[in-house]
Amino acid sequence: MDQPLPSVAHGAQAQHLAGTDTAPSTTAPQRPDGAAIVPAKALPALDRLLRLPACSALLEAHGATLVTQEARALLAGLRSQAVAGTLAAQHITDAALADALALRVHARLAPRMQAVLNLTGTVLHTNLGRAVLPQAALAQIQALMAQPNNLEYDLASGARGDRDSLVEGLLCELTGAEAATVVNNNAAAVLLTLAALAHGREAIVSRGELVEIGGAFRLPDVMASAGARLVEVGTTNRTHPRDYENAIGEHTALLMKVHTSNYAVQGFTASVSEAQLAPIAHVHGLPVVTDLGSGALVDMAALGLPPEPTPQQMLAAGCDLVTFSGDKLLGGPQAGLIVGRKALIERIKKHPMKRALRLSKLPLAALEATLRLYLRPEHLTRELPTLRLLTRPLADIEATAQALLPALQQALGSRWQVEQVALQGQIGSGSLPIERLPSAGLAIAPVHTKTSGRQLEALATALRRLPTPVIGRIAQDRLLLDLRCLEDPADLTRQLHALPMEAP
Ligand SMILES: *Cc1c(COP(=O)(O)O)cnc(C)c1O
Repeated sequence: MDQPLPSVAHGAQAQHLAGTDTAPSTTAPQRPDGAAIVPAKALPALDRLLRLPACSALLEAHGATLVTQEARALLAGLRSQAVAGTLAAQHITDAALADALALRVHARLAPRMQAVLNLTGTVLHTNLGRAVLPQAALAQIQALMAQPNNLEYDLASGARGDRDSLVEGLLCELTGAEAATVVNNNAAAVLLTLAALAHGREAIVSRGELVEIGGAFRLPDVMASAGARLVEVGTTNRTHPRDYENAIGEHTALLMKVHTSNYAVQGFTASVSEAQLAPIAHVHGLPVVTDLGSGALVDMAALGLPPEPTPQQMLAAGCDLVTFSGDKLLGGPQAGLIVGRKALIERIKKHPMKRALRLSKLPLAALEATLRLYLRPEHLTRELPTLRLLTRPLADIEATAQALLPALQQALGSRWQVEQVALQGQIGSGSLPIERLPSAGLAIAPVHTKTSGRQLEALATALRRLPTPVIGRIAQDRLLLDLRCLEDPADLTRQLHALPMEAP
């Protein structure tokens, strides 16, 4: 792979390697853009490249393995260009080679998972990581993860402990449940609950509640994976108490309710509430299990938001178990929470799948810290980002739009027209799908509209390439930036200089 050092007889190329950017001789071949073309043999050998002072610094900083891999790959790429007759002399000066190597090394080391600015208008965006963690949760992770902790150790007795006990008390206090357990996410909570309570038996669900959430979670499939037989009752739009009653038989394990979080059936509809269903189940000694999905722990309506059933309401209505997510309206880390009757929670905790689905110490630390915020409900809209963003005053969002407009217009140049607009955002993550959050933001449209579709795509791409990628949405021939989730405008303005002038 390694090429011999170009001999000094190669004149112009050798001088380039020595770092002197002299003009190529008039007889040298040229690219159509006038750049001098160089042959493969003008490339330095690997050792020669690595001995350049700038490259030694890279070796010092990052070690031989990574830097050598990247140097080989760089030379191989340049060699292919040379063979194709497209390698320009300016790309193989010492400075250019060292820069190219540094770029490659830094690109390899750059994390693929990155912070982004969510300007989509959807606060709990499933593709953008859902809930943003509160400071308290971040601090707890920071404080605990570099050291051993009492994850499964009872400090009072010095004996083995149960990781669930770290949050069970809080969950019971906040929801009124007798017992609680936590797993990796709500899909796991539903799967485990069904596997533990309905394996080889029947679970009765209304046809109006056989939901699919984000493609990968379809209730009938989860049932099948848990080994439970699905018994569908009612119709898509109407299910009555007698539908459940008639379906109950000797193989019935439980009655299930699913919060239809990502769609709404409107018009001629009827469904059986938890309060109606519980007595029907309990007469037969069966439990009612409710999958709430979002599971807000506080009254959303009291915060001026669309109402959302809480786990505490579901338990008070007679449900025996309620499952919900940690990273939707609760505003914490990805987790699945199961609260309800002690005897049922015990069976769930003893199931072998619990070990496979258990919550790891990182989200558990974040979950405990997030739940503790609920002990001071008056501070929630300040300390919990999800509720802070959802309740952010419209005037505040409008002020951000006003403040940003001139800077964005200037950065984009005269090919684009930026204006402040009223927008309709969403809570997201399947919560309250038909509700809209009145919001504000900036709409960017090309001044020359002939190729507006392509121009908008190119602008969206340029915004996604910023150091902290900016994610907006394209609608009605405009790129929309909803500013509800941009609490500090500087997060955007400080990187506008990186937008190509007259972008894209
Ligand atoms: C979101 C949701 C789930 C899945 O929860 P995850 O925490 O994403 O696994 C299950 N059921 C309902 C009703 C949901 O809304």
